[in-house]
Amino acid sequence: MKEIVILGAGYAGLRTLRELQKSKEEFHITLVDQNTYHFEATDLHEVAAGTQPKEKITYPIKDVVNPEKTTFIQATVTKIDRDSQKVALATGQELAYDYLVVGLGFQSESFGIPGVSENALEMVDVDSAVKVNQHIHEMMRQYAATKNEDFLKIVVCGAGFTGIELLGSLVEGKKEMAEIAGVTPDKIQIYCVEAVTRLLPMFDEKLADYAIKHLTDWGVQWRTGKPIKEIKPGIVVYQDDADTGARKELAAKTIIWTTGVSGSHVMGESGFAERRGRVMVSEDLTDNDHKNVYVIGDVSAVMDPESQRPYPTTAQIALKMGSMAAKNILHQLKGEKTETFTFKSQGSVASIGNSHALGLVGKTSVKGYPASFIKKMIMNKSLLETGGVKETLAKGRFDLYH
Ligand code: NAD
Repeated sequence: MKEIVILGAGYAGLRTLRELQKSKEEFHITLVDQNTYHFEATDLHEVAAGTQPKEKITYPIKDVVNPEKTTFIQATVTKIDRDSQKVALATGQELAYDYLVVGLGFQSESFGIPGVSENALEMVDVDSAVKVNQHIHEMMRQYAATKNEDFLKIVVCGAGFTGIELLGSLVEGKKEMAEIAGVTPDKIQIYCVEAVTRLLPMFDEKLADYAIKHLTDWGVQWRTGKPIKEIKPGIVVYQDDADTGARKELAAKTIIWTTGVSGSHVMGESGFAERRGRVMVSEDLTDNDHKNVYVIGDVSAVMDPESQRPYPTTAQIALKMGSMAAKNILHQLKGEKTETFTFKSQGSVASIGNSHALGLVGKTSVKGYPASFIKKMIMNKSLLETGGVKETLAKGRFDLYH
């Protein structure tokens, strides 16, 4: 019987699993993930800010595994050998495959800036998001004990989608933080240090300004056009003057790193032709030299023929890739030709807190409460596509009116 191995139970991997499990073809699937649960990576900022418990953004992988077709192994993938068609796990176990689907996801990217890994908090999975929240609470307790205002300061490094969404949730989390510190919420100081001056470049200026204005009104203090050069313990060092290179320091006891992501380090370590952990795949999503290896989600790069640049890594494209990988494996099993992956973005919506958002749906700008409603519907749809009806009813966002 043919063996299909899926690496990663994120949006891409689980989507492939669900599609393959529906097929009547004869094959066995092995799914590998380092966790026993799937998490909604798009909601990590809420766990970090303390506005959602981790249970709300996770569900057990076994809930979506059909044991008659699939074996789930909880383990960390260390290497992929495409020539011998084997995957090595940290447990020492080796898995042989006929078809492989690599959906190992993203990791934080430090761009080699000194002190990032030692002195800034990352937000890449459930554990690191929980750690951010625990750290903030500990700093609030330390403020109560010392009255040193640096304990009340939080810096978000980078104002991409992740940074903007995190800022919105941190603003909402201020009330709880203030209670722990024994201060009023306005005493919690939230900063954002960002290299460029024009934020959210994927949106027109009016729409981007909407987000910035809201966050500014809610007390976020911006340092834009200020590339971060180093993170020292409790200090963000940024370039203050592009002409002279003069630097400034911002002291804060909580520093969160959201300046971008790369694909899993396993790709480079396994000899894939990758850039920042992303592999430029063939039109049918297979590795260029190995037609039985599909590379999907954040480890994959597909060229957008319109912009002539790879599509940005989003849950939306990961889900689409997951479906296509399953479809193409089924084609290959039947000796049929594989299909070309095409993608038309349905737009993107960023939340700012629980009841505001902004973005594009198709080519139409949306903002405010209606955008927030759309954002929740998008989240419910991706939950439905990986977890099915049961998880959507349990974890979906139907708390639409505030
Ligand atoms: P990003 O690359 O989109 O943004 C990173 C930001 O950090 C940029 O604004 C960049 O200028 C800034 N930056 C980089 N180096 C810096 C430095 N040294 N100092 C200061 N600022 C610096 O990364 P992201 O926000 O993590 O998003 C990753 C991907 O996930 C993107 O493709 C994004 O579109 C996607 N995403 C989508 C959603 C959504 O659809 N709602 C939410 C989150 C992330």
